Amino acid sequence: MKAYRLFAWKTPPRLVEVPVPEPGFGEVLLKVGGNGICQSDLHLMDDWEASPPHLDVQLPMTIGHEIGGWVAVCGPGVTGLETGQPCVVTLAGCGRCRYCAAGWNNYCPHLGKQPGMGLDGGLAEYVLAPAAGIVPLDTLEPWQAAPLTDAGLSAYHAVRRVLPLLAPAATAVVIGIGGLGHLAVMILQAVGAAEIIAVDRSPAALELAGELGADHLVPADADTEAAIRDLARDGGVEVVLDFVGSGDTVGLAARVIRPLGQIVVVGRGPGSFAFRDRALPYGAGLSTTFGGSKLELMDLVALAERGRLRPRISRYPLSRVAAAYERLRRGEVVGRAVIVPEGHDGAGTGGEGEPQ
Ligand SMILES: [Zn+2]
Ligand SMILES: [Zn+2]
Repeated sequence: MKAYRLFAWKTPPRLVEVPVPEPGFGEVLLKVGGNGICQSDLHLMDDWEASPPHLDVQLPMTIGHEIGGWVAVCGPGVTGLETGQPCVVTLAGCGRCRYCAAGWNNYCPHLGKQPGMGLDGGLAEYVLAPAAGIVPLDTLEPWQAAPLTDAGLSAYHAVRRVLPLLAPAATAVVIGIGGLGHLAVMILQAVGAAEIIAVDRSPAALELAGELGADHLVPADADTEAAIRDLARDGGVEVVLDFVGSGDTVGLAARVIRPLGQIVVVGRGPGSFAFRDRALPYGAGLSTTFGGSKLELMDLVALAERGRLRPRISRYPLSRVAAAYERLRRGEVVGRAVIVPEGHDGAGTGGEGEPQ
């Protein structure tokens, strides 16, 4: 089968021929229906000089961690899944710790290697996944659902953390309308009632946020803070979801948040935010997140299958994966780019890179 593999750090991956793997105990082999590509893949390819110690990534490794597909083979010990079942893949926690017991598999301290992050990932015709990380699909095609597992789930988890604040007279700011942020705009509308301000540098990204129902579009420039202040009631906003996470964007969030508001930093951008007395208004909180839980992914899939959430996707064949990453690197991907192996494309239509 074809697989897009990283052979050495800071060296572009290559599409090569490798054997189809066999599932071990508790694993399933999936026929890949689509794999969304992510900024964190760019960090892995462009910036990493070694594996983070907790992942122990050994090269070569097939990249791709936003996976949808069909069950092809169930390994020993796997029950309750049938061949042909469409599904997506989420992080499998250890299943034994207090985080897992509470349903927070995404914060499991024993998370370890996952497909695309230590284990071979989804930019291939087939991929192995732990059965514990499989979430079945009903009506969505795997390529449509793949972005829900990372971009969608990270956005949904961030929104869930601030849900009680999203009252009709409240204001929520979404910074960064990329793969995650465009889904956050849709999710805020589906599960909350707050007015939505979208902030981005790119006019195309703001246009997309407007199409998806953001109430106000604010360009990221020298006047952003004043523009948000003008729109917010009582001089500050209840919620900021920061999908950039740079020192600049967190600083902006801290200046526009109101007392008792919540800033959720999902992005992992450069720079720093200095905390000191009065760096945040009284009662305001700032938190980070990592992904979302399996239960949240099940809910998100249900939301999408009911037609309340439709990721904006550009599709590329696996043979064009390098070109898709190049467009992501240049900031030219609107919504999410999903890579589909040739011949595995289900009901998709449209040409390469066209939004659908
Ligand atoms: Zn990712
Ligand atoms: Zn655990």
